Amino acid sequence: MRFPNSPLFKRWGDNLTEDQEVAAQGLFVQYGYNVYLSDQLPLDRSLKDTRPSRCQEKKYPHDLPTISVVLIFVNEATSIILRAITSIINRTPSHLLKEIVLVDDCSSHEDLKEPLEEKIKRYNVKHPGLLKLVRHQRREGLTQARISGWKASSADVVAILDAHIEVNHGWSEPILSRIKEDRTVIISPVFDNIRFDDFGLVPYIEAADGFDWALWCLYESVPGDWYALKDETAPIQSPSIMGIFAADREFLGAIGVLDGGMNIYGGENVELGIRTWQCGGKIEVLPCSRVGHLERAHKPYLLDLFPAMKRNALRVAEVWMDEYKYMVYYAWNIPLENPEVDFGDVSARKELRKKLNCKSFDWYIKNVYPNLVPQTNIVAYGTMKNTLSEDICIDQGPVPGNTPIMYGCHGYGPQHVFYHSTGEIYVGNLQARRNAVDRCLVDTGQEEVPFLEECNEAIKKGLSMHWDFRQGVAVVNRKTKRCLEIVKDQGASYFRLVLQNCTGQKWTIQHTVKDWGSKGTAG
Ligand code: UDP
Ligand code: MN
Repeated sequence: MRFPNSPLFKRWGDNLTEDQEVAAQGLFVQYGYNVYLSDQLPLDRSLKDTRPSRCQEKKYPHDLPTISVVLIFVNEATSIILRAITSIINRTPSHLLKEIVLVDDCSSHEDLKEPLEEKIKRYNVKHPGLLKLVRHQRREGLTQARISGWKASSADVVAILDAHIEVNHGWSEPILSRIKEDRTVIISPVFDNIRFDDFGLVPYIEAADGFDWALWCLYESVPGDWYALKDETAPIQSPSIMGIFAADREFLGAIGVLDGGMNIYGGENVELGIRTWQCGGKIEVLPCSRVGHLERAHKPYLLDLFPAMKRNALRVAEVWMDEYKYMVYYAWNIPLENPEVDFGDVSARKELRKKLNCKSFDWYIKNVYPNLVPQTNIVAYGTMKNTLSEDICIDQGPVPGNTPIMYGCHGYGPQHVFYHSTGEIYVGNLQARRNAVDRCLVDTGQEEVPFLEECNEAIKKGLSMHWDFRQGVAVVNRKTKRCLEIVKDQGASYFRLVLQNCTGQKWTIQHTVKDWGSKGTAG
């Protein structure tokens, strides 16, 4: 094995020669998935039917709305795109499939230029007019690519998908019949996972699509009233979407398609989710509609997703989240004043919101997404340093584990600290959701070191979890009166985080909320 550390060969590739390994690894690095294998698999490979069994018995009317399927791509492998097209042609009723729109977000790979156009022509000989190709003249990012696909479509319904997908049996009928019933529903199929290494299909269980305060998407468990229906085919109401979706083409246009001001990647799905609900639509996941989505081990087009996601998240916060927008700033550890993140012009989106007379984010939280729990008592946040040594920061420490440490400052999630006016100190990435708990700094009274305990547990156990602190003074436990301090053991070269009798050490925290901690104001 020439690449013992490559994720590609963990589960796959036992019988390859060395030359084949080198070839496979090269393609994997370039694409983030196993193109070597994809090039060998048939384009019309069969897929296990992952629908709940009752879906397979469902009958749908013959005269459903027509559908345009948009596939967006930048430098995806040709065999992957062709397999997506093949699956759509084979698994969508031909009288309903109006067109497949390919949107090339300015790929540089040669095989996606002339050679792809040749292949499209060949498909169109067999299926006249079915395939369309739209090319961006410069890289515009996935949001613009989806918008271009929407613009080029003409069917009643548009499904906007990644190009590395395979639609599964009967995927389209549930979507089309649901939109026929109610054109204000934006639909997410269930994505089953196609593994990046061996292309195995792994079904996902039913879930709703949500997000955290950084506006990063995540799965939420399905609300109890869905289970109470005892109908595994029933739509699942969902606060947001993951990225792949289908909608009534005109309704999607009326509510503003997607925010064209988003860069490269991230945030556009949450923006659509929030906007849809606040502006009079709904979002549903349909368990009977299954799309296999090829996962990637890494994203070849972007090394660091954070800058784009951060600025895109701030656009969403600014336009849609009203007085809750500060939560996004906390989650990304951005100062509320002078954030110095250029999120572009949002005036057109704000106008859209006004024109559509959309509801507030407060309404959205209360009625659609109560799992988001705003934190109203945070008065200071960010990295926290001791004035004795300002290149180290409080850090949540090894995971799993519950012992915070001092560590070289990098400022990422594990070093985010949140001080509450009520005295709690959260350490680590902000959760602030109902089903995910933040961890609080506690003094057990006995140990020399502090611990992190899930805050609700700390309350239940009556642990000493409240601290007095202001900018530039000691951090004192209200109950035990011990101080959070740092010590360097004899002969050691690094500081440890301890609790001890106060010696007058001082702490600072990166950002403050309003005028907290300024001279003369009490903590
Ligand atoms: N994409 C694009 N332009 C970009 C980045 C991505 O058109 O600048 C396409 C990409 O080829 C893919 C889709 O957008 O079809 C979604 O990207 P990706 O699959 O990497 O995101 P994920 O599904 O992992 O969230
Ligand atoms: Mn994808």
